[in-house]
Amino acid sequence: MKRWNGWGNANTDYPVPPAALEYLTKRLGPLDPTPDAAKQTLLAAVGESRLPAHRRVDASAETRLRHARGQSTPDWVDMRYGRADTFPDGVAFPETDEDVRDLLTYARNAGAHVIPYGGGTSVVGHITPLQTDAPVLTLSLERMRRLLDLDETSHLATFQAGVAGPELEEQLKARGYTLGHFPQSFEYSTLGGWIATRSSGQQSYHYGRIEGLFAGAQLETPRGRLEIKPVPASAAGPDVREMLLGSEGRLGVITQAKVRVRRVPEAEGFFGVFFPSWEQG
Ligand SMILES: Cc1cc2nc3c(=O)[nH]c(=O)nc-3n(C[C@H](O)[C@H](O)[C@H](O)COP(=O)(O)OP(=O)(O)OC[C@H]3O[C@@H](n4cnc5c(N)ncnc54)[C@H](O)[C@@H]3O)c2cc1C
Repeated sequence: MKRWNGWGNANTDYPVPPAALEYLTKRLGPLDPTPDAAKQTLLAAVGESRLPAHRRVDASAETRLRHARGQSTPDWVDMRYGRADTFPDGVAFPETDEDVRDLLTYARNAGAHVIPYGGGTSVVGHITPLQTDAPVLTLSLERMRRLLDLDETSHLATFQAGVAGPELEEQLKARGYTLGHFPQSFEYSTLGGWIATRSSGQQSYHYGRIEGLFAGAQLETPRGRLEIKPVPASAAGPDVREMLLGSEGRLGVITQAKVRVRRVPEAEGFFGVFFPSWEQG
């Protein structure tokens, strides 16, 4: 299970190596780390939900705490020092586009703000609920992770937008394809999140950044469904895809995305180059 107050799996630990501790002590003086806040303390800070009940909305304190922050340093400080003071009023787990539409109607009727949520790896605060009079509904795409279609003529794959990196590549690899998008947060971040944050990855020099791989989408908005077709470049005016890229969930919920995929390469080689000095480098 994911750690509730930081990055990674709760069962995997990387203690600071002795040599690094020695170095840090030399630079900073004796180290006296503040103990982490207990999860119980944070759970006690999660107030009553202001949302009406819904079969797809989890209003438990545990789930609301786990979706309250991203993975930036301020987010970690909030969690580890027990300072987090805003939480979503509920977390919705839709499974289909229709569920998303239904939840947007529910949110509108409840006067709630909606935060689309992919892998929760944001480092810029956009999944953190604000202190507001309106209830906040976080809408997690974690149950929408299937490969829906692979067009082997156009090399276009259509996925539900909540698919995270490893599962996306696994589903493509089974058919002999790859997307080639590997941000450092690959393990948890999702296709919808990559588009909404205009992300780039470790191999983007070769495969291209997400804006080059993103071909089309289906979006559920408070005003209805928007379908962005995977047309080739057009000279007929602004490209709606550009509006969606980096929109951070403001325009609606991306439920499906079409991406340009390639055949898995026959071989890959990765090399590191070390220079003895800055000047020689
Ligand atoms: C350790 C670490 C390494 C990172 N490495 C990289 C890197 O190499 N390259 C890089 O570009 N970024 C990197 N990031 C930042 C982050 O991982 C990316 O911004 C990522 O694209 C976010 O994806 P996510 O699914 O986790 O989205 P979230 O964090 O869940 O959401 C991010 C934003 O997108 C919106 N959103 C999410 N899903 C949807 C959807 N389906 N529809 C509409 N809006 C949506 C949210 O509302 C929010 O505004 C890193 C972060 C960490 C913590």
